[in-house]
Amino acid sequence: MSYQHKDIYGRLLPFSPGKLVCAGRNYRAHAEELGNEVPDQPMLFIKPASALQSMTKPIQWPQVLGSCHHELELCLLISKHLECPSPKQAMEAVWGYTLGLDLTLRDQQNLLKAKAMPWERAKSFAGSAPMGSFIPAGEINSVRDLQLELQINGGVRQAAETNAMIFNVLELICEASSTFTLQPGDIIMTGTPAGVGSLRRGDELHLQLQGAEQHWTWKTRVAG
Ligand code: ZN
Repeated sequence: MSYQHKDIYGRLLPFSPGKLVCAGRNYRAHAEELGNEVPDQPMLFIKPASALQSMTKPIQWPQVLGSCHHELELCLLISKHLECPSPKQAMEAVWGYTLGLDLTLRDQQNLLKAKAMPWERAKSFAGSAPMGSFIPAGEINSVRDLQLELQINGGVRQAAETNAMIFNVLELICEASSTFTLQPGDIIMTGTPAGVGSLRRGDELHLQLQGAEQHWTWKTRVAG
């Protein structure tokens, strides 16, 4: 596997890429745009480590399977073994944060949902989790007050504040670790805000994370 976790300074991080635990329907407006109910406990699913690819690589998907939607998500890298952590242990296990894309074959997902079948066939193809380089947790002033934004070809498609999440970062770590166990190198994807839509060949994507007087950006594109 060519993907490795890196920080924003280009350093390789000493954790093997692991599974991604992803939250579905964690922003009210997104749940509503797809006609779904807002969950009363975190809705979790897993992407395999083979879904990871660096944000610097062009996005590709099996086009015969139909549309591929962008889902912009705040992601966090876990650096410790976690089962049923205290809040303090949970937050101490976060190495850092970044933005990632939970790429979704939406036509396939709709077929699977209609048959009440699992989503993996729509969400777990190789490269379905383009991942940015990680900002060390200590360098972010307040994770509850970040703004995330995705522009495609210069137009804003998705924008939200992390304080609009239905389940916050701590709740997601506790739920994910007690449900699946988390290991160093695993990632949590915290769900997407409203504005998901189809990607097209050659699209230029600009991802931005902002805090008070803090600002990080990543870029990628869809293969032409
Ligand atoms: Zn998602």
